Amino acid sequence: MEERVYNFSAGPACLPMDVLKQAQKDFISYGESGMNVMEMSHRSAEYQSIIDTAGADLRELLNIPDNYDVLFLQGGASMQFAMVPMNLMTKHKKIHAVNTGQWSRKAIAEAKKFGEVNVVASSEDKTFSYIPKLSAELFTPDADYVHITSNNTIYGTKYTKLPPVGNLPLVSDMSSCILSEEINVADYGLIYAGAQKNIGPAGVTIVIARKDLVENAPEDIPTMLRYKTHADNGSMFNTPPTYAIYIAGLVFKHLKKLGGVSEMEKINREKAAMLYDFLDNSSLFSATVSGADRSMMNVPFVTGDAELDKEFVAEAKKAGLVNLKGHRSVGGMRASIYNAMPEDGVRTLIAFMAEFEAKHR
Ligand code: PLP
Repeated sequence: MEERVYNFSAGPACLPMDVLKQAQKDFISYGESGMNVMEMSHRSAEYQSIIDTAGADLRELLNIPDNYDVLFLQGGASMQFAMVPMNLMTKHKKIHAVNTGQWSRKAIAEAKKFGEVNVVASSEDKTFSYIPKLSAELFTPDADYVHITSNNTIYGTKYTKLPPVGNLPLVSDMSSCILSEEINVADYGLIYAGAQKNIGPAGVTIVIARKDLVENAPEDIPTMLRYKTHADNGSMFNTPPTYAIYIAGLVFKHLKKLGGVSEMEKINREKAAMLYDFLDNSSLFSATVSGADRSMMNVPFVTGDAELDKEFVAEAKKAGLVNLKGHRSVGGMRASIYNAMPEDGVRTLIAFMAEFEAKHR
């Protein structure tokens, strides 16, 4: 087998080795089918079983209550920036939103096309390096829902507690943190996530939505953009992204084998603590986010010298530690350590950073 690298990409991101191996085993013929899953009719009994099992395993992993639909859609999280307001901005034609970075901003811009968006708080004043404090008075009841981005992929921040939204449905973009730690789905009206970080290949988008919200959506929106269309048809109104759903299903099985989301959270906490501890004690590197709002998934850091940052990224790549360049809007470095990044990958990165630090003291 060819040599693998440690891939710290923010997404698409690395997949668990046993998932890749299973996919390799199934590649020429899935089970007795004599064909690859991507060659299979989505109307076949075999494929029906693949999508049903994936949905059931996701329900089990997140303990999703029965009054929620689980949908496998397309168009990425970016499509949800429009689908959410189209379907949910029904009564007040107004929402509350928190701006914690570029992805929040894009969700806000899209929602503005369908009604009023009240941005209750923003962390733009400090390059989105924190989560704003949110008090209950901000969330007046004259809104259809509240939109947040649970984990901010670019800036490396995350919510550690729920915003006090009262009875308003809370909608969260969990693209870069779904399945990384335990959540209570019932706290949310709707959760969406592009798959390419913690779930599987790009091309499938997960939506977990309370059934009453799905039911109440207007009838005059385009068929494909209506959640109810997909809920009524088991995510098979049209051809779904069959192969991406199959791989997502393998990832769900892998997580169950590991011990579920609670076990994954424990591992993620350990990985993130190792890296932040190193950064906090380093004389060369420092994390750009401090305090409680630090993401467990995306860890941005800098040396303070743009040229040295560049050298670090290039040297790391030579050592098999790839995609460590920070987002173009922030600079520096960013290590994305999603579920599939093994603890050994983080240890190897830390050892490499210590070596680099010793050379550049
Ligand atoms: N939301 C968050 C938090 C993201 O990190 C990303 C992509 O990185 C997106 C939305 C956009 O996702 P997609 O490319 O699936 O539209």
